[in-house]
Amino acid sequence: MPFSSLGLSPALLRALSARAYTLPTPIQAAAIPAVLQDRDVLGSAQTGSGKTLAFALPLLQQLTQAPGERPRRARALVLVPTRELAAQVGDEFRSLAQHLDGSLKVTVVFGGVSINPQMMGLRGGTDIVVATPGRLLDLLDHNALSLAGVQTLVLDEADRLLDLGFAEELQRLRALLPAKRQNLFFSATFPPAVQALAQTLLQDPVRIDVLPAPQTQPDIVQRAIAVDAAQRTQLLRHLIGQQHWSRVLVFVATKHAAEIVADKLRKADIDAEPFHGELSQGKRTQVLADFKASRLTVVVATDVAARGLDIAQLPVVVNYDLPRSTSDYTHRIGRTGRAGESGLAVNFVSAATEAHFRLIEKRQGLQLPREIVAGFEPVQTVSEAASTGGVKGKRPSKKDKLRAAAARNP
Ligand code: ADP
Ligand code: MG
Repeated sequence: MPFSSLGLSPALLRALSARAYTLPTPIQAAAIPAVLQDRDVLGSAQTGSGKTLAFALPLLQQLTQAPGERPRRARALVLVPTRELAAQVGDEFRSLAQHLDGSLKVTVVFGGVSINPQMMGLRGGTDIVVATPGRLLDLLDHNALSLAGVQTLVLDEADRLLDLGFAEELQRLRALLPAKRQNLFFSATFPPAVQALAQTLLQDPVRIDVLPAPQTQPDIVQRAIAVDAAQRTQLLRHLIGQQHWSRVLVFVATKHAAEIVADKLRKADIDAEPFHGELSQGKRTQVLADFKASRLTVVVATDVAARGLDIAQLPVVVNYDLPRSTSDYTHRIGRTGRAGESGLAVNFVSAATEAHFRLIEKRQGLQLPREIVAGFEPVQTVSEAASTGGVKGKRPSKKDKLRAAAARNP
């Protein structure tokens, strides 16, 4: 089914052919007509399957068809959980809006940068606001905009925005939005509890589940390597060299770990930078831009990089620390294998995290063999890992090694 059969305007069709997009992805084919019919949508489809355009295209069309009031008020609000994702989604809207008659204004707001330019940018009104919740609330407190004219609310990464971390902010924002509005919720994951909550917020929604059929599932090879926690940085160095990984996104559990691991890699002459919520926004933006432009080999990130980021042709994701939830797993590995490309996701599993990984495997319907890399044979047992916090292993004795070998080959 071509884009032209979805009811999109000639201007938007030209924008798509300028990008050489020949066919809509399944989520686009299903969501675009539903949005154009003013329906609420709960849309679930794999990472990297084009969910952004599934809401951006019909929204732009709706807004160009119905001229806004003067002075103009925001008519569409797109909420996202992270600053980088706000910038990325905002860029997508702007690049498409360029192909329209030029009358639509897109404003992107997020925290960590000075609020004044954003306030200035909102003077004279706007049509589409792409925002992270916290900064949007700050701007509303400053009366920099009103949400009273919002006709459509989009939650991108909806399950993240609806979980506890954003509950208070979302509640405050909802109180400022008109009760009668169109709601579009998108994500690759909707855990049951979030789905139940989403249903209470949506009006008779069209539910779109692009099922993970083989042809729509991201093409990501997943591997698990058994390794002692204390050996992980060395193993990562080894793999980067031996496997000729040109670019790697490494996920760790804490900001501190991101700093430490990046630092160790740099000392081994690998271009690596940390990426986490305590860096300045300038630094975060720079690291991501350098990584996208292949000026960096490794980015060691917390889950702040797990959602939504579209890094073209990223070949490898490594879970140095395992994610807490199975949803986080899906989003982390989904940074690779996007838009029909293939990718590789490697998990480091130690004695202390083996049980947790088995749970993730079960929820993901996976069963990965535990690979062992020569020179990095694990020797720690669960109790040893627990007694050392699973981080600093003691040096294994010969007896330890024999025991471990026996355990592996019963
Ligand atoms: P998701 O939000 O589902 O994870 P994105 O919206 O970030 O995915 O899209 C992933 C990539 O696919 C982007 O680089 C986007 O430009 C590209 N893309 C989107 N729609 C199409 C299409 N119809 N044909 C080809 N590429 C597309
Ligand atoms: Mg997305």
